[in-house]
Order: sequence, then C-alpha cells, then structure tokens
Amino acid sequence: MATLRTKKYPCSTCDAEQLHRQLTRAEQEQLKERLGRTGVSEFWICENVLDPATGRQCRNLRTGWVMKPFPKPIRLPAPE
Ligand SMILES: [Zn+2]
Repeated sequence: MATLRTKKYPCSTCDAEQLHRQLTRAEQEQLKERLGRTGVSEFWICENVLDPATGRQCRNLRTGWVMKPFPKPIRLPAPE
C-alpha cells in the first residue's frame, strides 16, 4: 500500500493541532457510502491517540480547508 500523506491540522474534537492522514481506499469507500457521495478525497482523519492503553485513535474527519465540515463530527469506526 502506498504511504498515505500526513499533515498537522486542528481537530475540532481534540481541540488542538493533531496529525491527520489521508483516508485509505477502504475508509474512502466506507465514507462514500455513509455520506452518499461519489468523491471523498478531500477528507483527512485525525490520528491522535486518545487511549494509549488500546491505541484507540480519534478518527474524526475534516477536510483540508474546513475543520468542521459536518453539523455533527463524524468519526470513522476503527477497523476490525
Ligand atoms: Zn482528533
């Protein structure tokens, strides 16, 4: 798998600058279905680790230019 780009962006739910990365192909498919859209390439996902014990990440979504693109934050579910 190609290395996904990462970038520091403010996260609306972490309330701080956090490392975000572009979505994997599987995550893009998941989000397309959820939003009913055909393209979701502008989205970035927050990689901030909320729980060091389990490694659970924030996974809140934003775009490259909008911190809160949805009325309510959307977090992608963690992979199985
Ligand atoms: Zn976050």
